[in-house]
Amino acid sequence: MPAAPRVRIAPSPTGYLHVGGARTALYNWLFARRLHGTFILRIEDTDRERNRPELVDEILSGLEWLGLDWDEKTYFQSDNAPAHQAAAQRLYDAGKAYYCECTGADVQARKKPGEPPGYDGYCSRRDLPPGPGRALRFRVPEDGVTVVHDIVRGDPEFPNSTIDDFVILKSDGQPLFYLANVVDDMDMRISHVIRGEEHLPNTPKTSMLWDALGGGAQPIYAHLPDLVDAKRRKLSKRRDPEGVAVETYRRQGYLAEAMRNYLALLGWSPVDGREILTVDEMVVEFRLEKVNNSPAFFDVAKLSHFNGEYIRRLGTSKFIQVVQPWMETAPWEPDNYDPDAFARLAPLVQERVTTLSEVPPMVDFIFLDEPIVDEAAWDKAITRNESAPAMLAACRAGLAEAAWDAASIRAVLEAAADSLGLKLARAQAPVRVALTGRSVGPPLFESIEVLGRDKTVGRLDEALRRREQAGA
Ligand code: GLU
Repeated sequence: MPAAPRVRIAPSPTGYLHVGGARTALYNWLFARRLHGTFILRIEDTDRERNRPELVDEILSGLEWLGLDWDEKTYFQSDNAPAHQAAAQRLYDAGKAYYCECTGADVQARKKPGEPPGYDGYCSRRDLPPGPGRALRFRVPEDGVTVVHDIVRGDPEFPNSTIDDFVILKSDGQPLFYLANVVDDMDMRISHVIRGEEHLPNTPKTSMLWDALGGGAQPIYAHLPDLVDAKRRKLSKRRDPEGVAVETYRRQGYLAEAMRNYLALLGWSPVDGREILTVDEMVVEFRLEKVNNSPAFFDVAKLSHFNGEYIRRLGTSKFIQVVQPWMETAPWEPDNYDPDAFARLAPLVQERVTTLSEVPPMVDFIFLDEPIVDEAAWDKAITRNESAPAMLAACRAGLAEAAWDAASIRAVLEAAADSLGLKLARAQAPVRVALTGRSVGPPLFESIEVLGRDKTVGRLDEALRRREQAGA
């Protein structure tokens, strides 16, 4: 039986957790959990200039939110700095790396017109000792090919002649990504490197370093397909910083379960093609070999559809519980919030939203003294609607007297519509706008029941007054 895998994600705290990074984390996690392996989190904080330590917490909390628990401690690459330096020294001592003092301008000045960019190997035979201003370069073999064993991409081959002698220690002594990344993977006995496609071109370099450092069997690679937008452009933190951050979706009221389910399908699907899967089903069914290599469309509309599905599957009390944080930041006075009133409307609201942040605007008319008025809706349904005054007045009269339950309220509105020779669906529009301020919302009769007689009658009076003032 093969040894249980050890995998890792290695985010750099130079940006927040984005959906691509979360998908990579999820695939690593699913792979490890199915095979009872180990899922490691290593924060690659070696690039001191570009690091933003405050982002580490956000990355951790995003992973926790998605339920991607990691094993062992949280590793920081900078803690392994002595091993990076020792590895560099070993490569130098063995003649597999050399010091170089060329600046970019030096290299450029030596180039003949039309020569490709990249380092020309000028210092490779100068045998320079270490010294200020000198970087350490890895000596790439001139001939041969480097083959990367990749589960998703087949086994791509990279001719060594296309790879320049690359820097592994900067002139200030700091290790570069390739070196630190490989040394850590070796030290952590990583068996599978599952990461984004953008790292594929780095892989021949890391793979050469692995061999040069005597790392033994190479890890197996899996480079996951890019996520793209509707125009098939690679998702970009630069172009769309909000739209690619996991935190944005969390704040808008996407459920972690829906997000995780949706992310799982960006490059993989279960054999029978079904889409809504529990996390346990994903763990059982996920196969790295089945990950495809074509770009995956990150479709926010589809994610929203998933989210709506997940919201509807919640029990009502769970729904009420998960929506609480959004209710607490809503525009009403906290004292005006009545949990019982919300509980009565909650099952109806739950049917109609795709994100939790849509909930407060659907029910705010209950808890505000005055509803927030959508003026365009008011104008259409009340100011420019000839039958509005009669309908509002008839409802006002009926509702002042009616028994207070949804069925009796409906009977009042029906009778009012009948008396005007109108269909109920059309006739109720001014009533909805007068009471809730908006043209859409939860079912009207139940909403009126929860709003209560006093506010209902008061708002109908106010609407009639405004309509009269507006004339027409
Ligand atoms: N630190 C790299 C990044 O943030 C990850 C490298 C890897 O997974 O090997 O993209």
